[in-house]
Amino acid sequence: MEKYLVIGDPIGHSRSPGMQNAAFEALGMGRPYGIRHVTPGELPDFFEYARENLSGVNLTIPHKLQAVQLSDRLSGCAKRCGSVNTLIIKDGIITGDSTDGYGLENALIHCFGRSLAGKRILFCGAGGAARATAVHLADCGCSEVSFINRTVSKAEELSAMCQRCSDGIVSECAEPGDEKKCIELLERADYLIQATSVGLKESDPSALPEKYFRPGMNLCIFDTIYRRTALQELADALGIPCANGKEMLVQQGAKSFELWTGVKPDLEVMRRGFDEGVTN
Ligand code: NAP
Repeated sequence: MEKYLVIGDPIGHSRSPGMQNAAFEALGMGRPYGIRHVTPGELPDFFEYARENLSGVNLTIPHKLQAVQLSDRLSGCAKRCGSVNTLIIKDGIITGDSTDGYGLENALIHCFGRSLAGKRILFCGAGGAARATAVHLADCGCSEVSFINRTVSKAEELSAMCQRCSDGIVSECAEPGDEKKCIELLERADYLIQATSVGLKESDPSALPEKYFRPGMNLCIFDTIYRRTALQELADALGIPCANGKEMLVQQGAKSFELWTGVKPDLEVMRRGFDEGVTN
């Protein structure tokens, strides 16, 4: 019987079952992790089901905010970022936690081999993924966490969150059409985190235009999208180091696994599970 689930709406594309079941199997625990389509309206009833029947849940779009209200308890991290992607269920009590920030931090270190202390981070995007991770990066000692977003008010909200949680951090905002400001932010950033949904469709353009970048600029690009995007192609053409979103999913999933089982899983096993894309 499935004791762990990933839920979302839509959810069919999820790589989490292949990845998590590979980690469970490596410990001789079978394949207890399933996938379920749950709509926002169904989420309160799902929590009651989970309380009685499950040990752990991963939540993806669009449930991460609503889960903050529905959890019995919240980790410090979930409280600070106002987002929940992991439920830990024990003795009928549901604790909401957030492992996305940990996932992004460790993906950046794994992909680019540098610590984040003192680094300047620039997010392109201010939706759920940026919300769940920006405060964590501010906590890691980054000197700047700034935002470029189509809806500037959302960028300003995240910027205020980062400034509240990290004394003295620099945080500025721009809209993607403001060429001068975007280039200024890109030129001083160490990492660009592409966290919009632009690139999910094959026909999508680059999330930021080519004219904002130059060959060999001192920047690492982390695109949270797993598939090959126009931004990743642009980075390769210009010789700018770039990674896709796979490692973030693996690292956040590994942290969820550890919260459920108390065991640090084998990351290589999880990466292979992701690549195989086995959904059950
Ligand atoms: P979301 O809450 O719906 O936010 C979407 C973001 O994309 C917003 O910043 C939105 O800007 C922007 N956007 C959407 N369409 C746009 C357009 N046509 N032009 C410019 N900006 C546009 O989604 P999310 O949960 O943050 O997810 C964002 C991305 O992160 C997705 O691509 C998802 O696959 C990825 N992600 C990856 C991982 C991982 O583990 N690798 C985990 C979570 C998410 P506005 O605010 O102006 O609407």
